[in-house]
Amino acid sequence: MSYQVTARKWRPRRFDQVVGQEHITTTLINALGTGRIAQCYLFCGPRGVGKTTTARILAKALNCANVDAGADPCDDCPSCKSIAEGTSMDVLEIDGASNNSVDDVRDLREAVHYIPTGGSYKIYIIDEVHMLSTAAFNALLKTLEEPPERVVFVFATTEVQEVPETILSRCQRFNFRRIATGTIADHLRTIVSAEKIEADDEALFLLARRADGALRDAESLLDQVVSFNAERLTTETVGDVLGLVDGGVFFDVVEAVSAADATRVLELLSGVVDAGGDVEEFVRGLIEHIRNLLFTKVQGTAGELDVTETERDRLGETAQGIQEQDLLRALRSLMDLEGELRRSLQPRFRTELTLVRLAGMGNAVDVGQLLARLAALEATIGHGQTPAPVTSQPQPPPRRAASTP
Ligand SMILES: [Zn+2]
Repeated sequence: MSYQVTARKWRPRRFDQVVGQEHITTTLINALGTGRIAQCYLFCGPRGVGKTTTARILAKALNCANVDAGADPCDDCPSCKSIAEGTSMDVLEIDGASNNSVDDVRDLREAVHYIPTGGSYKIYIIDEVHMLSTAAFNALLKTLEEPPERVVFVFATTEVQEVPETILSRCQRFNFRRIATGTIADHLRTIVSAEKIEADDEALFLLARRADGALRDAESLLDQVVSFNAERLTTETVGDVLGLVDGGVFFDVVEAVSAADATRVLELLSGVVDAGGDVEEFVRGLIEHIRNLLFTKVQGTAGELDVTETERDRLGETAQGIQEQDLLRALRSLMDLEGELRRSLQPRFRTELTLVRLAGMGNAVDVGQLLARLAALEATIGHGQTPAPVTSQPQPPPRRAASTP
């Protein structure tokens, strides 16, 4: 049995198959249903979240022969099929990164004026539109100012801030979201079920988390793991293939740091490295874990977080026994470390240093206690007494005597 590359096989063919962008697909379906077709759409958002895919579905829907099938394209008529196969004469996909000159856009402007036959729409999908040169943007603008009938532009970009305002103002803009880890994991579950591959929930979640909001990345990662071991996906197999670190270790690291147990911290890191884990991956994971703890601490619940049920409970328990300042301090150190690791030749050594330093810092002193001690110091300076020991009851600072001129 051959295993077709997942991303291609599972590429959505209808609006209702687009994952995690319902706010956009619903709006598009409504617009198509009522015939309010914009001349120019701008799809912006991170990579791998469905911008180009949605553009192709929109193109299909505009030219689908089976209009009574509703706003979702039928995916079966000759037009839908030719668009899916990339052979349609009515849909032109242009990569803005490699066709970014003014000449490229001039060619496009000339082509735009050939009205499509048979009353269909001509759709130009320009991917990475922000890569166009200024001259190319100006040429494009002329077309957008006097758009020919039955021509629809769909621009896609990851860098919307680099698209000129003059272009933006002529587009109907849609912001594609980074897809939630849980949603990606659910989608991976659908795929493995259909492909009859056994997989643990935790393993799929680990894959989904690594994809960091990009569905396409999650699918490629799944391919990578399946081609390596198609028997059964567990956190171990996923971790081994991708050099990922099992999330459980982060709880242990935080626990060891809180207990100021530097030896244990080093053992844990050693265990990760011995198991083939990547140090940078470990640091990234630890940062995310501490961010989750901080969120749980501040919100009083882990309910909103993109984590598994088990992790949610554990985050709640751990956050109770830890101070917000300690989490912030650890987060700062680790983020500095993450920056250093990109240049460091000894990532493991640097990471060990940071972890040992964190473990050696002890827990934060209560600010109230510090203030009380400061106040006691101020009060005793004039009297030649030794400062009183810190008590758990913070005392209000004494009023300063008004200074005489
Ligand atoms: Zn169709």
